[in-house]
Amino acid sequence: MSRMIGIDLGTTNSCVAFMENGHAVVIPNAEGSRTTPSVVAFTKSGERLVGTAAKRQAVTNASRTFSSVKRDMGSDARFSVDGKQYTPQEISAMILQKLKADAESYIGEPVTDAVITVPAYFSDAQRQATKDAGLIAGLNVLRIINEPTSAALAYGFDKGQPCKVMVYDLGGGTFDVSILDINSDTIEVLATAGNNHLGGDDFDQCIVGWLLERFREEHKLDLSKDPMAMQRLSEAAEKAKIELSASSETMINLPFLAQGPSGPMHLEATLTRVRFNELTAHLVTATKGPVQQALQDAGISASALNRVLLVGGSTRIPAVQDEVRKLTGKEPSRDINPDECVAMGACLQGGVLSGAINSIVLIDVTPLSLGIETLGDVFAKIIDRNTPLPCQHSQVFTTAANFQTSVEINVLQGEREIASANKSLGKFRLNGIRRALRGIPQIEVTFSIDTNGIVHVTAKDLGTNSTQDITISGSGNMSREEIDRAIRDAQRYAAEDRQRKQTQQTRDAAESMLNQARKTRKKLKDEDRSRLDASIAELEDALKDGNEQRIRTASEDIDRILRSVGTYTSAPEGGNDDGAYDA
Ligand code: AMP
Repeated sequence: MSRMIGIDLGTTNSCVAFMENGHAVVIPNAEGSRTTPSVVAFTKSGERLVGTAAKRQAVTNASRTFSSVKRDMGSDARFSVDGKQYTPQEISAMILQKLKADAESYIGEPVTDAVITVPAYFSDAQRQATKDAGLIAGLNVLRIINEPTSAALAYGFDKGQPCKVMVYDLGGGTFDVSILDINSDTIEVLATAGNNHLGGDDFDQCIVGWLLERFREEHKLDLSKDPMAMQRLSEAAEKAKIELSASSETMINLPFLAQGPSGPMHLEATLTRVRFNELTAHLVTATKGPVQQALQDAGISASALNRVLLVGGSTRIPAVQDEVRKLTGKEPSRDINPDECVAMGACLQGGVLSGAINSIVLIDVTPLSLGIETLGDVFAKIIDRNTPLPCQHSQVFTTAANFQTSVEINVLQGEREIASANKSLGKFRLNGIRRALRGIPQIEVTFSIDTNGIVHVTAKDLGTNSTQDITISGSGNMSREEIDRAIRDAQRYAAEDRQRKQTQQTRDAAESMLNQARKTRKKLKDEDRSRLDASIAELEDALKDGNEQRIRTASEDIDRILRSVGTYTSAPEGGNDDGAYDA
């Protein structure tokens, strides 16, 4: 039987673990490191480098080196080398292949099954792309699980008391914070927030900037355009940063950094932790907003947290740990290596799936609301943001026009009340609806999301049982930036959207009222009919004019007349619920 591995496929570094005697064990790579840089390079001689070797030549071979590819997963981005285009999945697969090969040589057995982790906010397409990368690398991906959930598993929270946990994950290029609700048999991600462009690399860049400045002052030379010098500076900066996590000052020594008119130039500098903290204070402070956002989205205060877990290599920075203490009022847990716990959790989850460990069921959540477009550019939410997975929700809709026999279902993801302001994940058409007046057909739309976060939408005419469906896959889904922007926009435009929705609802109700009035007028006495006709004309005019108050007043007039003549039979059809499609 082949062995199963857990993989943390990170933006800057990846890590792999396997089960040994009931424990998750991190596998060192062929170079002896416990994490592998998520960097792929193609040398001019056509050799492919993955990991440390690729990272080491990144600056000097920039156009043929690819890093942080995880940010492009699920998008249409392409990486081109020597006329060949690679998808983000293919580049990621090269990293996975190396992890798989290193694992096989360490364990001494073939490896096929894997659990791979993704950020909790990863959309459907990003999860699909990650799964595809696994397939390309020759792995059978048993499950895609959320990174914070995985970290919590590594900490053994599956067996403990119910509790609320914050996972503060500051890696090389990204910052994520998640709030988990842990019960006896479930781990649910209540909320996530973060910044896709904040991480250890930015700390390194602060040191590089400081070194460049010192060099410029001393030698009157700008090194920023010299790739070889920049590569050495950024490696030295990262090394200095790591040393400053353990000591209060460090020496940076780079001999022969440049050639000047009077011979070679060297760089020697002492960086203290105090100065480093000053240079990077803004980066540490930048984690505050997402922490507060996640707590707010989860509906809890920091004092309600039982534990705070640190994940990601950059949480080793003392100033970062101080900030976490300040923000949460808690002493963060650091018992497990922050850059290894995600892979260890993934491996434990694999153990659960393969039956080697029998404990928990995992629940993840959907990062953004899902729904469809309805009449008047209104977004009808079917699954709310942060709903635990797997889930299935249905809602019944109707037609917008008389004798309409087909509807287009536009599947949307986002937080705005206006449909067009959200992201369309795909469209499909349901045909074969029985001919009927608007508002009569009943079309049931069902959204289901599986444990991997993959979305399936079905539309069914309950009259004819005609059914059509779509599985959302491939590209065109939302990136982290888009998700963050969607949430921010939703907050910013909430009042405007509500107003637009209300205006649309007033118009829909007025249209229904007009239909009702036109049908009724024939049955009325002359005197009542002419009164009604005047109001109908006024409402038609008001609808053209678009003045909401005028539409409302004219609708109320018609309503009053219909009630007074006693022919008013039912509430207006279609009406102001969101149950009407745009044909
Ligand atoms: P990760 O993506 O979780 O592997 O985190 C990688 C980042 O953590 C890189 O920017 C590393 O430079 C940084 N890192 C690793 N170890 C330390 C350390 N001891 N102190 C500060 N940063 C570290």
